[in-house]
Amino acid sequence: MVSRRLQEIPASGTIAISNLVSQMKSEGVDVVSFSMGEPDFVTPSNIVDACCESLRGGFTHYTPSMGIPELRKAIADSARKESGVPCDASNVLVTPCKQAIFMVALAYIDPGDEVILSDPSWVSYEACVRLAGGIPVYVPTRFEDGFVMDPAAVEAAITPRTKMIIINTPSNPTGCVMPRDSLRQIADIAMAHGIKVLSDEIYSSIVYEGEHTSIASFPGMFDNTIIVSGLSKSYAMTGWRLGWAIAPADDIKAINKLQSHSISCAVSFVQKAAVEAIEGPQDSKAAMVKEFRRRRDLVMDLMEEIPGFQCNVPKGAFYVFPKYNRDIPSAKLAEILLREGHVAVTPGTAFGPGGEGFFRISYAASEDQIREGMSRIRSVMAKL
Ligand code: GLU
Repeated sequence: MVSRRLQEIPASGTIAISNLVSQMKSEGVDVVSFSMGEPDFVTPSNIVDACCESLRGGFTHYTPSMGIPELRKAIADSARKESGVPCDASNVLVTPCKQAIFMVALAYIDPGDEVILSDPSWVSYEACVRLAGGIPVYVPTRFEDGFVMDPAAVEAAITPRTKMIIINTPSNPTGCVMPRDSLRQIADIAMAHGIKVLSDEIYSSIVYEGEHTSIASFPGMFDNTIIVSGLSKSYAMTGWRLGWAIAPADDIKAINKLQSHSISCAVSFVQKAAVEAIEGPQDSKAAMVKEFRRRRDLVMDLMEEIPGFQCNVPKGAFYVFPKYNRDIPSAKLAEILLREGHVAVTPGTAFGPGGEGFFRISYAASEDQIREGMSRIRSVMAKL
């Protein structure tokens, strides 16, 4: 007897496809996977060494629920230096990034509250809002505008029930990096209406053109913002499940209540490794970003060879979100690509209704896989 609340929520589109790909691979099918947003690099060795040392040293017990003090400090120092966020260790809670989003939804959304989010946007925001009893209010963004969220459209969507605005820059799935001025306008709107912003900055260090701006860095805005981020994407640490929330201390206390009743704390020895990731040498991170950029350019070049595709050049993250000109629903297209071409992509509609007519390619894959996968997409599309 599954709760009505859960019955209404579909399983995560990204995870469902990734599970299917794993199953097909285990059955011997040679699938090229562009579905999961997961770097194919190995976690840098200094981080792995720090983790092993911590494990061997017996750091294998619970930690304080908010995280170990040296990691909270390292995270705050880095957010202050890199993004100008006026925070210190008391503003940090260590937890996996997805868990942070889930807890923020439960901590702030009452049944019937409305949450404004960009359409398209990452698959699990809507689910978290709904699980908390809230109502997602999609603000459409346009391919022609590079999927930038329009501050006027955000303001127009506000009602007396609006509780939160979710921002994700760089964006999954579009790779849009929000211009500073648009972010500033959204910050002003949020402050004027007393609405909290959940700012998902998990791709903040993967920016190729322009620069990342944290909405929390505008004067007065930190009091209104909860930032979530983590190590998964920038340090190739998806399986380590380590991230954080940064917010005013009272918000952190509220979120910590949920942490104390759910996961208790983040994994102890991974927290030690995280200190090394943030404070140790950053050259591996820089090299990965450089390589992602090369792959982005490669995918864009290969896409030019596929008739009927149009795609913005993504400025950040590691996704492209092409528009196709066939009259086929995106879920059906993804199914055909997987079944006939053995190439896994995520349908645009997994990211909201505005994703119809698009699909997402994660190019966090090797060059060989990118070449092979794009050639398979091209052959399948030629038959449609
Ligand atoms: N965030 C990644 C993606 O969009 C990993 C899967 C998930 O968390 O949805 O593919």
